[in-house]
Amino acid sequence: MAGKKLMKIDPAVVEWNYNTEYRHSYAQDSPFFIALGKNKLLGSRCPECGYKYGTYRKYCMYCGAETEDIELPLKGKIHSFTTCYYSGESFRNDVPFTLVLVEFPGIDSLFMSRLYADDTGKIKIGMDIIAKFKKFQDFTVNDVYFVLE
Ligand SMILES: [Zn+2]
Repeated sequence: MAGKKLMKIDPAVVEWNYNTEYRHSYAQDSPFFIALGKNKLLGSRCPECGYKYGTYRKYCMYCGAETEDIELPLKGKIHSFTTCYYSGESFRNDVPFTLVLVEFPGIDSLFMSRLYADDTGKIKIGMDIIAKFKKFQDFTVNDVYFVLE
């Protein structure tokens, strides 16, 4: 079979420089990224059903209503976490790194972010964590990260 034969071939791996101008609009998610530059985390609240989102969104996924911006607390707890040893291009130089799903008090859904800890072996579910913001904003989700409290 062709598949078996292909698996016996050593792949040719080449390195090329890849560089391009890229313009990206955050559109309706812009308030979230602008708030990061002011050391604030924005979530969303649905005025119709009251659901509170830890991940910013402009429309409620339950009832479809347009949401309102809410400021999230900067302290939360680790809901779950994973340490990544392989990554895509953007984070290749950062491996290993830890991602957390953050629980905020009074918020119904989670927020995914990076967690910086000196000893990743000591990270436990339920630990208190606190948001930190990059000094120089680059308008990515990496403008915010968490550390153990
Ligand atoms: Zn709703």
